[in-house]
Amino acid sequence: RNDRYLESQAARESNARSYPRRIPIAIQEAEGIYVKDMDGRTYYDCLAGAGTLALGHNHPVVLEAVREMLDRKRPMHTLDLTTPVKEAFVDELFASLPEEFAKDARIQFCGPTGGDAIEAAIKLVKTATGRRSILSFQGGYHGSTHAAMSLSGTLGQKENVQGLIPDVHFLPYPYAYRCPFGVGGEETHRISSRYVEQLLKDPESGIVPPCGMIFEAVQGEGGSIPAPAEWIREMRRITQERDIPLIVDEVQTGFGRTGKMFAFEHAGILPDVLVLSKAIGGSLPLSVVVYRSKLDVWKPAAHIGTFRGNQLAMAAGLATLRYIKANDLPGHAERMGARLRERLEELQSRVVQIGDVRGRGLMIGVEIVDAGKEPDPLGHSPANPQLASRIQRECLRRGLILEVGGRHSAVIRFLPPLIVTESDIDEIARIFGEAVDAACA
Ligand code: PMP
Repeated sequence: RNDRYLESQAARESNARSYPRRIPIAIQEAEGIYVKDMDGRTYYDCLAGAGTLALGHNHPVVLEAVREMLDRKRPMHTLDLTTPVKEAFVDELFASLPEEFAKDARIQFCGPTGGDAIEAAIKLVKTATGRRSILSFQGGYHGSTHAAMSLSGTLGQKENVQGLIPDVHFLPYPYAYRCPFGVGGEETHRISSRYVEQLLKDPESGIVPPCGMIFEAVQGEGGSIPAPAEWIREMRRITQERDIPLIVDEVQTGFGRTGKMFAFEHAGILPDVLVLSKAIGGSLPLSVVVYRSKLDVWKPAAHIGTFRGNQLAMAAGLATLRYIKANDLPGHAERMGARLRERLEELQSRVVQIGDVRGRGLMIGVEIVDAGKEPDPLGHSPANPQLASRIQRECLRRGLILEVGGRHSAVIRFLPPLIVTESDIDEIARIFGEAVDAACA
């Protein structure tokens, strides 16, 4: 029965060429970490709405919150008008931010997607500074809307679209395994920060004062690459000294995924602008930008949009935030992530095609390489997207959904719901190991 749905999708939806191309199943129902397809097969969902489903599918506290909204005649849509649910949601969100940031913060509700919030963040810092050039990072991903895509490092998406926003300067991200400077290890992030500072210092570098710097503290779509805490602190210092607003995109990393409530907290810094979506809506669409009050320069109606008042998403998000805090899911994500990485590192020690295992918390990437080809100057074999794709297929056959991403589509990404248990982790690692053996055979 899967086939019938897949054929109909392929005939009508261009979406069939994105996720379904690699994960060709039709989903019938879902609960917790599992989804069931139309043929009755059950899978571990380690894609989980691209990191959206912090509590997994249909968590009881989310269902309860949504049911209560429906049963009590709460409005589903209110544009920007306030409601008790919205107020409670903002209270809870602010209480989950570092106190020093929250006490002087403003919030802007945006359209339903992460991309919408990125658009808002960029407009905000442009308006506040009166400047237009932006500093972004190689391999970053910020969305598919026009400005968000312009800031993303992924060329594949951009090459056929003319007239992207100009004045984006792409800087090297501290990706130690494929070090853009050919050094690797700790030297990668030290050189990267020196390079950024030199560009901004040198009047001959050609860079005009930027309206902002944007990065992910752990690059997600770029291949689950954590930026070292020291590098993040350096970016904070460099931007602070020059009065450049620092925008941290926590669309994927936010709400416990990396082992802290927010990934910037690993470095002990505070951003000027924080972009949030995915998990914030408790599996329903919602995005916000939270920023320092001195940047709150919007004139009335300078940034508007119809679908910013999704009350069901706020109720589901509120229940999710409360559950994440009450059950210390950031701490749990840290422990489960460490367990999974340990298993994956064991596998790496016997499989030469596993080039790198990295990540933070439950945002883990495994870079697949072609061990038969000549290594780069750092001794790392070239990326092997074909093998990564075979491993993904073998995982799916064994009941495990994983995504493949990264610079060369050779990184297998683990993004399980944060409620994953120890036994789930062991089973996921076991299936993955079997799939790797089958694909490498
Ligand atoms: N920023 C980051 C870091 C993301 O991972 C994503 C989505 N994967 C986005 C922005 C864009 O979010 P959306 O797809 O909801 O527009």
